Amino acid sequence: MINQSDYLKDELYTRISTDPSIFEFLQSGSLDGLWYWDLENPQNEWMNARFWELLGYDPKEKKHLASEWQELIDPDDLKVALENFHKHCEDPAHPYDQIVRYRHKNGKTIWVRCRGIAIRDAQGKPIRMLGAHNDLTELKELEENLRYMASTDALTGLMNRRSFEEHFEWSLKNRQRTSEVLSLAIIDIDHFKNINDTYGHQMGDLVLIAIASAIKEGSRENDFPARWGGEEFIVLLHGADAEQSLLVAERIRACIAKINIVHCEISASIGVSTFLPQIGEASRAFMDQCIALVDSALYEAKASGRNCVIHNLKKENRL
Ligand code: GH3
Ligand code: MG
Ligand code: MG
Repeated sequence: MINQSDYLKDELYTRISTDPSIFEFLQSGSLDGLWYWDLENPQNEWMNARFWELLGYDPKEKKHLASEWQELIDPDDLKVALENFHKHCEDPAHPYDQIVRYRHKNGKTIWVRCRGIAIRDAQGKPIRMLGAHNDLTELKELEENLRYMASTDALTGLMNRRSFEEHFEWSLKNRQRTSEVLSLAIIDIDHFKNINDTYGHQMGDLVLIAIASAIKEGSRENDFPARWGGEEFIVLLHGADAEQSLLVAERIRACIAKINIVHCEISASIGVSTFLPQIGEASRAFMDQCIALVDSALYEAKASGRNCVIHNLKKENRL
């Protein structure tokens, strides 16, 4: 019995070889680029119009030289592609298949899945290479947007609690190698409920945005500020001992006190703790202990009148 799909496949093969309009339809319609490379004269490579249109170029300007795409592909990705090319030439079972970045004429990154097969002579020596492109840019951008949304606080643009926890854990692991001293500052806005009650929730949101900017302004370049939740923020202070962390926290407190977008004063209470490299490990339990410690310093700051910084190791350093 005839296998139906095989008979149709055979028929399609014949039609492709005899009817140019079928080949034309396939190469222009089903892919985002088709190329055919002469490995005996490796400077020569035919690339179809769609290949160049995807990258923003007029196909008529192109000379069908391999150097033309090699100049536009990301140099690191070119290395990967050439490595796979050589491996595939040596062993047909090794796939020539990778996702690479191209530079569009307008500077934008175009993500392309690039696949190919070597065509070999009777001795098995590769003489041509046939390849196809699929444009993955939209998918990649979607993926990046999702990653951004998953890690960022939508209101303030700061990192969210989840990414803070990831970064904190990474920092605790990393300091086993670097012996870095770490400090945490937790920032809670004073009587924020009053701001909402007096000026409305929308104005409250604008104040939170201004507070996020003030926190960034007061932090150092390597510090990691995040929105902890509601009107609470947290900053991981890299390489800051107790004294330095108090200075930074005080600077953040002062930046917040300068905010001038509503008629009432805005202030924050800040709790700070310092974790020496010889203490603790990179575990969830230790992270919770750190947060509990810095929370207790914050509680004390609230109890001692708000608008102040308290470090729970150096209470005598109250600012
Ligand atoms: P305290 O000085 O003791 O911290 O007083 P507080 O009023 O700041 O503390 P409380 O926890 O009673 O209130 C926090 C308020 O923050 C209540 C909540 O509605 C408000 N809030 C939390 N998240 C947001 C937000 O995203 N936008 C706005 N506008 N308000 C928020
Ligand atoms: Mg609070
Ligand atoms: Mg508060």
